[in-house]
Amino acid sequence: MKFETLCLHADLNKKDEWGTLNQAICQSATFVHKGVDVDSPYSYSRLSNPTRAHLENTVNALEGGYATYAFSSGMTAITVSMMLFKRGDHIISTYDLYGGALRLFNNVCNSNGIEYSFIDTSDIDLLEKTIKNNTKAIYIETPSNPLMEVTDIKRVSDIAKKHGLIVIVDNTFLTPYYQKPLSLGADIVVHSGTKYLGGHNDTLAGFVVCKTKELAEKILYFSKTIGGQLSPFDCFLIERGIKTLPIRMDRINDNAYKVALWLRGCNKIKKVYYVGFKYNKGYEIIKKQATGFGGMISIEVESEELAKKILKDVKIFQYAESLGGVDSLITYPMKQTHADLKKEEREAKGINERFLRISIGIENVEDLINDLNGAIND
Ligand SMILES: *Cc1c(COP(=O)(O)O)cnc(C)c1O
Repeated sequence: MKFETLCLHADLNKKDEWGTLNQAICQSATFVHKGVDVDSPYSYSRLSNPTRAHLENTVNALEGGYATYAFSSGMTAITVSMMLFKRGDHIISTYDLYGGALRLFNNVCNSNGIEYSFIDTSDIDLLEKTIKNNTKAIYIETPSNPLMEVTDIKRVSDIAKKHGLIVIVDNTFLTPYYQKPLSLGADIVVHSGTKYLGGHNDTLAGFVVCKTKELAEKILYFSKTIGGQLSPFDCFLIERGIKTLPIRMDRINDNAYKVALWLRGCNKIKKVYYVGFKYNKGYEIIKKQATGFGGMISIEVESEELAKKILKDVKIFQYAESLGGVDSLITYPMKQTHADLKKEEREAKGINERFLRISIGIENVEDLINDLNGAIND
């Protein structure tokens, strides 16, 4: 089956005795045993649940994994993936990272004895130089959030293999519709399913996709021990979202390209961060490893006043955190996603009071451009 079909029919095991077309929401914490020492498919929902299993099978097929586990948020998924490491281990990570992941690594995992080096993972020589005796993994986000930097997943994976390291890729921004990290050599994919997979800004969700049986067994063990699984109803919502993932992504991709071009022609916009421009450093890499550019654009506007005016005056775009849904959103990373960073760190990256991040939705693109034009130029 091709990707678009897999989004609807990847898991043909869903048939139940009623013949429901959609996987039924199996709202049960526990399951009746068929007898002592008789195998039952389900026992307790922290371990597994039919609605969740169906969603996990779908996402697994889309990413091409060995097994996938669904969690109550992207952060739960990332936290569970960090359970693979212990005190004294060292992890190399993209320096431009989702703010929540940075907070987890710097303030929680770090206190538990895991050491991180945050570097520009698009610089392969630097990456290789940063590997130490206790390095265990490379954690990358590509394109990165919010600076849209591109890391070559295959080259990173080749180096990781040479040194026996695990590669973890956060594939939230492009989704498996555009980018399949496991096929490029990564070992684990994590997702905030809250974003494009769910696609409607109505449900938090996260996934850990494992390439091998060995990794899958470890993640399953942590999952059943820790908890934090996605609830049956939320599984149903994410499953429903995934059915339209390809057509949403196509529209979002087209809209984002047109909006980014328009923004580039705007005098008051000093810089447009968007991975689909040919002059970008990562352009050749993203063309090679992905089939689309996604819907994320960051901009630096001429003044703090203008940034605030845009947030106040947009009517279709909503000033809200999050991304990847059908509705277009704008956020102020300095105040929201990256508010926990030290000021110097944030400013050094260019995330200042003039910096905004835009998530393009599926609205009519002329309406989106008119909305931005009104907020920027009127
Ligand atoms: C939102 C996001 C996360 C965290 O996911 P939640 O579902 O909000 O917990 C992780 N990585 C990226 C790239 C994100 O955009």
